[in-house]
Amino acid sequence: MNGLMMNVQLSVTSIMEHGERVNGATEIVSYTRDNHRHRYTYRDAFRRTRQLANGIAGWGLAQGDRIATLAWNDYRHFETYYAAACSGYVCHTINPRLFPEQVSYIINHAEDQYIFLDPDFLPLAEGIAGECPGVKGWIVLTSEEHMPETSLPNAQCYETLVAAGDTSFDWPQLDENTACALCYTSGTTGHPKGVLYSHRSTMLHAYATMMPDAMGISSKDVVLPIVPMFHVNAWGTPYSCPMAGAKLVFPGSKMGDGATLAALINEEGVTMSAGVPTVWLGLIAYLKSSGMRVDSLNRVIVGGAACPLSIMEDFDKYGVETRVGWGMTEMSPLGSINSSPSSRERYSDAEFAKVRLKGGRPIFGVEMKIVSDSGEEQPWDGVAFGSLKVRGPWICSSYYKLDNSDAHAEPGWFETGDVATIDPEGYMAITDRTKDVIKSGGEWISSIEVENVATDHPKVAEAAVIGHFHPKWSERPLLIVVRNSDGQDLDAEEMLAWFDGKIAKWWTPEAVEFVDELPHTATGKLQKVELREKFKDYSFPS
Ligand code: AMP
Repeated sequence: MNGLMMNVQLSVTSIMEHGERVNGATEIVSYTRDNHRHRYTYRDAFRRTRQLANGIAGWGLAQGDRIATLAWNDYRHFETYYAAACSGYVCHTINPRLFPEQVSYIINHAEDQYIFLDPDFLPLAEGIAGECPGVKGWIVLTSEEHMPETSLPNAQCYETLVAAGDTSFDWPQLDENTACALCYTSGTTGHPKGVLYSHRSTMLHAYATMMPDAMGISSKDVVLPIVPMFHVNAWGTPYSCPMAGAKLVFPGSKMGDGATLAALINEEGVTMSAGVPTVWLGLIAYLKSSGMRVDSLNRVIVGGAACPLSIMEDFDKYGVETRVGWGMTEMSPLGSINSSPSSRERYSDAEFAKVRLKGGRPIFGVEMKIVSDSGEEQPWDGVAFGSLKVRGPWICSSYYKLDNSDAHAEPGWFETGDVATIDPEGYMAITDRTKDVIKSGGEWISSIEVENVATDHPKVAEAAVIGHFHPKWSERPLLIVVRNSDGQDLDAEEMLAWFDGKIAKWWTPEAVEFVDELPHTATGKLQKVELREKFKDYSFPS
């Protein structure tokens, strides 16, 4: 017997309609190139979204066609998200930090028809436009007054397009499985792969992220998404905030600028923010040098890479709770969140320093398991480790236009490419990427744990550990360090002594090399493939 409940389709359109009707007076504040404090409301945003949808409707696109963006976090990007998705098209967010060849590859692979771009990305777009013959037009996200000269074919001004559109629009009724957004992973090897989100997955993910032990977003919050809208939809905040009625503060191109972030937090009363560890390093450095505080800020979600303990301890001093989140582009992205700070009283100082570094517990909706090389499921004892597999309604079931991928080899599960342990309370800890695992004498060493200890050294700006050939142990860890401005005198002896008593003796790196900078991917992750290549002829001192 079926239940007698309405079969209402889950859609991004319903988020927009709710945001306008119920939370219409709530503000969205944006930093843009032409206005450092653009300010309007959800009501204004969604009225303009309808005007934009009318403009796009004149282009003769078919349902499911891709509209791409090369844009910062701001209100025009927000409007484009909704106008494209709710019209039945797919909003393809492109990461402008990818190499130009990767950008043209994904534009062509996605068969993008129109591209909305910030004026900052004109040089990039002009450089690749000739390689992208399928693109029918380029919409520059600016006003007529600021419209730059460009060689792009069929370039239009965004504000002109919006102004010409009627303020009413009949949104189509969409099946909840209709695609709404597309984002390519910035893999370190091979071509980027497309992850195609649906209205249903997007809405369920947004619901889940709002839970109290996850991001805990409510109508009292003022949310600053520093994590880009061009990378996994800013972790769902452009959807969860209008659902909850939270004020949104968009940092535009200033996501890496501590001074602007601190000003936005203080002027707008930001309570919650989300970003990768690097942005927090920038903000904390600015707070320390300026003596400024961020008293309204209550919590930050840190993800995308392992978060050093030093960031958490610095935030403790400012009264800001740090919650680690783990996820992937393929997971919309949120998979787990570490809410241990809200049960701080349960842990001794030493236990807390350990547990808070973990990737956290799966959020409801995400199932996890760890499996050995031979495919055997491993216990949740906090010691056994294995390849981390996940499943759930906001996890990709296959890549866009790619029928077979190793990640989907086991039916119904997605292999994350991460290696993890899970403890009896469900706290998952990422120990490595599968391809970065170090095996010394057949025993495994967690490069992430070693890196965490290294970056806690007061003279270290950044550190990476790679496995390197060793005649006796087959592999030993090689530590590669970037010294910080106070650490120019740091030498290998001092660095290696730092590990005494902090990790198992045999996990201590065999040697240290100092470099000026480490290679990163377009999303700020350490590029260990390049490091291994750079050090391939290296020999450990005997
Ligand atoms: P992306 O798809 O670019 O978001 O990258 C996803 C990958 O980032 C994951 O598979 C992890 O390897 C890494 N990652 C994300 N969050 C964390 C975290 N909290 N700790 C360690 N690694 C993380």
